[in-house]
Amino acid sequence: MKFEQLHLITPLLRAVEQEGYETPSPIQEKAIPGALEGRDILGCAQTGTGKTAAFALPILQRLAPHAKEQGRRPIRALVLTPTRELALQIYENFCGYGRHLRLRSAVIFGGVSQVPQVEALRRGVDILVATPGRLWDLMNQGHIRLDAVEIFVLDEADRMLDMGFVNDVKKIVAKLPQKKQTLFFSATMPREIQELVSSLLTNPIRVEV
Ligand code: AMP
Repeated sequence: MKFEQLHLITPLLRAVEQEGYETPSPIQEKAIPGALEGRDILGCAQTGTGKTAAFALPILQRLAPHAKEQGRRPIRALVLTPTRELALQIYENFCGYGRHLRLRSAVIFGGVSQVPQVEALRRGVDILVATPGRLWDLMNQGHIRLDAVEIFVLDEADRMLDMGFVNDVKKIVAKLPQKKQTLFFSATMPREIQELVSSLLTNPIRVEV
């Protein structure tokens, strides 16, 4: 299988080539077509499988046609991930895969000053990558609105649970629009995760690698 067969747009195919990727990984092959159609995805996959591109490429492609030239832009895609390291990696991947598109990404996480993060948000971002604690703080301070989110990614849901983020996640989810596409990834599917899945996902495509 080739990336071209996944019906990705040229700016993304060029970026993927520049990353040095030759063929899609199994999770990319299985998740990208459905995600591009707007379907919910339930992915059972670990880090290292290429799952970031499996959600980032479809997000970039779905947001690209309506990219704003300038002016205020609402957050249209939200990626929640449990750690600062993962958040930074995912953000860097969005920047790399999106290098030929006019979409803006930002990343926020705790343990550092919120000032530069708030400034980045104020300039306007299409895609926000965040850890739950800092996101919830900034939402409560009125710096972030999520009412225009079209695509929501919950990454490493099981680790989110282990790290005690479940309440933050649930509070954040409650602020998202009812109508949205959700891409859900977890390496394991314990009962609590299955409950979250059934409350969040509608008729998802299940992908296991
Ligand atoms: P991830 O599971 O998303 O953390 O990705 C693991 C690593 O695989 C990252 O360094 C990616 O840059 C790389 N990667 C993702 N997709 C591909 C691909 N199709 N071909 C080669 N490397 C890839």
